[in-house]
Amino acid sequence: MHQRPILNKSAIELLASERSYADGLRYFQTGALDQVTRNGNVFSAYVHGRELYYVKLRIRDGRVEKQCSCAYEKPTLCKHAVAVALAVAQGQYLEATSENQPPDGQANPEKATAAPKLAQVGLNGLTDRVKLDFLDHLLAKHPELHQQLHQFAAQPKP
Ligand SMILES: [Zn+2]
Repeated sequence: MHQRPILNKSAIELLASERSYADGLRYFQTGALDQVTRNGNVFSAYVHGRELYYVKLRIRDGRVEKQCSCAYEKPTLCKHAVAVALAVAQGQYLEATSENQPPDGQANPEKATAAPKLAQVGLNGLTDRVKLDFLDHLLAKHPELHQQLHQFAAQPKP
């Protein structure tokens, strides 16, 4: 019984309000979270909501203790925690390389934006439509990306 999944979708659904679950699922599906890191039974990730939030989930014996930098105060999971829990449920996390690796970038959100490849975060199954919508969303939010997109598009492809 050691290899059972750490979490599953229906368990997460029970741990959150209907609203938080729906919002968290949307965050998860649109790739609004950075790479989840596992350190023992603690899973952590940054989630791009209205701001950048840092979520830590401690999972023990099927129980989930959450910490999130948002203002959600109820004992149930906030939408950011739901997004991270869904990634964990799908095995989308990396083992931390060292026990004491600090979550760098917490004080410096810019560092946390190193984009993992879609395939690495299990999002390569997204439809082009969703990717385009997400790109639109990013460009609207970060006008400075327009120039980068132009430069990227101008590069010769192998
Ligand atoms: Zn939160």
